[in-house]
Amino acid sequence: MRVLIAEDDATSRLLLKRVLESWGYEVMVTKDGAEAWQALQAEGAPRLAILDWLMPEMDGVDVCRRVRDRETLQPPYIILLTALGDKESVVTGLEAGADDYVGKPYDPDELRARLEVGRRLVELNGELLKAQHALEILANTDSLTGALSRRAIITNLEREVERAARQGSRLGLGMLDIDHFKLVNDTRGHAAGDEVLCEVVRRVLGVMRPYDTFGRFGGEEFLVLVPGSGERELRDVLERVRCAIGSSPIVADGHEFAVTVSIGGATGGRESADDLIARADDALYAAKEQGRDRVVVAHAAEEDA
Ligand code: GH3
Ligand code: MG
Ligand code: MG
Ligand code: MG
Repeated sequence: MRVLIAEDDATSRLLLKRVLESWGYEVMVTKDGAEAWQALQAEGAPRLAILDWLMPEMDGVDVCRRVRDRETLQPPYIILLTALGDKESVVTGLEAGADDYVGKPYDPDELRARLEVGRRLVELNGELLKAQHALEILANTDSLTGALSRRAIITNLEREVERAARQGSRLGLGMLDIDHFKLVNDTRGHAAGDEVLCEVVRRVLGVMRPYDTFGRFGGEEFLVLVPGSGERELRDVLERVRCAIGSSPIVADGHEFAVTVSIGGATGGRESADDLIARADDALYAAKEQGRDRVVVAHAAEEDA
């Protein structure tokens, strides 16, 4: 693990560097508080730091304060090295945001043990962040198909609705429903139905642009979110999606299915996410009524047109 040290005295600096290296740490050396503060703000900065308290310009306590004022997910663990052993100074250092302190001249065994505590905490924090990230991905992904989950696509939609209202831009939403999907389940079983769902998603993701998003609304219904689009652009995107799914039969359980989808689209800029969903749903109903395997985009509400 890497450790940043800040020490203005050249001899002490070299000694500290050597002793840390002999314990297996990789050492990043800085000569004063300003240098240390610079280094700690950089991307990929060391997560462990040993700061001398007394340094010219910016001292160790100042660095602690600045580090704590900054909002970051992985703040460094800071040990202050201080000749100021009295209780009051210790309180000042800890209140400024140091995690621990070691008196100068330091006892190597003590420094090593305290550094170990820091290393454990930094590693634990890293593990927690990783676990949190994994959980977030899990919650945002539909477990069967790998599309965005209902929760994630609706959160996206709400965010884009807000952005559209704020920026006066437009937003397109498509609601997609597989035609006669029940037949797949009824003729080849639920597992074959699942295979078809997964292939539909794979085909849609294959033609999605990076800034559009696609999520499972429920069952065999999906939402396509097309930020910044008016009616014509939305129709183009949804037609591309429809054609990608219907382009060739989908094989599931060794059987070929000619899968088609109906898609309802709506554009907006001022109404709520629920209203937009309701209008896309109405358009989907119209697409089903008109014979399925088609895209119907609702005309924009007159104030938006
Ligand atoms: P329509 O063209 O009117 O949409 O007909 P449909 O058969 O697709 O519509 P319906 O709503 O009657 O049936 C949808 C079916 O989707 C029923 C349900 O069992 C099936 N389904 C929903 N979720 C899943 C799933 O996760 N896996 C499988 N295999 N089937 C699912
Ligand atoms: Mg000093
Ligand atoms: Mg349905
Ligand atoms: Mg259906």
